[in-house]
Amino acid sequence: MELDGGAAVGYDGLIIATGARARRPGTDLKGVHVLRTIEDAEAVRAAFGEHGSVVVVGAGFIGAEVAASARTAGLEVTLIEAAPTPLTRVVDPRIGEVLTELHRDHGVDLRLGVGVSGFEGSGHVERVRLDDGTAVDASLVVAGLGVELNTEWLRGSGVRLAGDGGVLCDAFCQTSVPGVYAAGDLANWPHPRYGGRIRLEHWTNAGEQAAAAARNLLAGEGTRQAYTPVPYFWSDQYGRKIQLLGQAAPADTVRIVHGSPEDRKFVAFFGRGGVLVGVLGLRSTPKVMRYRPLLAETTTWEGALSAAGVTPRS
Ligand SMILES: Cc1cc2nc3c(=O)[nH]c(=O)nc-3n(C[C@H](O)[C@H](O)[C@H](O)COP(=O)(O)OP(=O)(O)OC[C@H]3O[C@@H](n4cnc5c(N)ncnc54)[C@H](O)[C@@H]3O)c2cc1C
Repeated sequence: MELDGGAAVGYDGLIIATGARARRPGTDLKGVHVLRTIEDAEAVRAAFGEHGSVVVVGAGFIGAEVAASARTAGLEVTLIEAAPTPLTRVVDPRIGEVLTELHRDHGVDLRLGVGVSGFEGSGHVERVRLDDGTAVDASLVVAGLGVELNTEWLRGSGVRLAGDGGVLCDAFCQTSVPGVYAAGDLANWPHPRYGGRIRLEHWTNAGEQAAAAARNLLAGEGTRQAYTPVPYFWSDQYGRKIQLLGQAAPADTVRIVHGSPEDRKFVAFFGRGGVLVGVLGLRSTPKVMRYRPLLAETTTWEGALSAAGVTPRS
């Protein structure tokens, strides 16, 4: 393997874990930030102290957390999202609507179903132009537009990549090159309980998959173990913890099994093809974690409802 500067490093085994970087919004105007590194976080925090308002572009987890932090810091917040609900990529729209209300409860001007078409200003951002023809004044923008995977350096190496740049792995986290494994945000591998390949941009997965890849690399043929975690993600917004075990989208059945969205405290089950695929909780940590074993194996929808003490037709 060659390093910047030309030095070469030999290896018996290799684990690729170069992760991802924030997708940039395509402008050089000052005042437009992204959030991925500690330097990004320090710059955003400093900017919060210098501005009375912020426009946040994208209501994924990063944008939603930035909006919540900015409101907590006393800024006026406009949150712009092209999809009809926040967190569309990871959460079924029926739960996305609860998150919409959560932001509005806290005074966020949440604009849904409208995309950003450009930024205007001379040197420093002054306006965010939206694709419905309107514009929002802005001296500070934070864009949470997802990530780009740091895998360009692998092109031509023989390590096969997916269409989104993810590193294609087998069930043991091994890439298309024997002895070369991958873990974390960039690893794309087949998960038997989710009907195909998945890739997770979650902190817990980065740690668990790194350990699994290292174990399998050292174990050798015959004693390797397939990596079949229960995906886990959390997000803190307005002092409330949202936790997701498994997958919450796409889902063909959604059921609140404890609490209620109106109280902003609930646990929801998500089903696909008659099987439980995800459990999401808002302000319900012990209850959510109690259902982890149901997701560590295949649990029917009826079996899951019964474990929660809920009758299928009630
Ligand atoms: C602001 C923010 C908040 C988050 N909050 C949560 C949360 O609440 N819960 C949660 O589950 N997840 C959260 N995440 C996601 C989580 O941080 C990531 O899933 C995790 O960091 C992925 O780890 P990784 O090791 O795969 O990649 P990374 O953390 O991206 O690490 C990759 C490293 O590789 C380096 N690198 C890249 N290219 C090269 C190269 N060519 N040569 C050498 N080094 C290279 C990079 O500089 C980087 O240090 C958050 C992420 C961000 C940005």
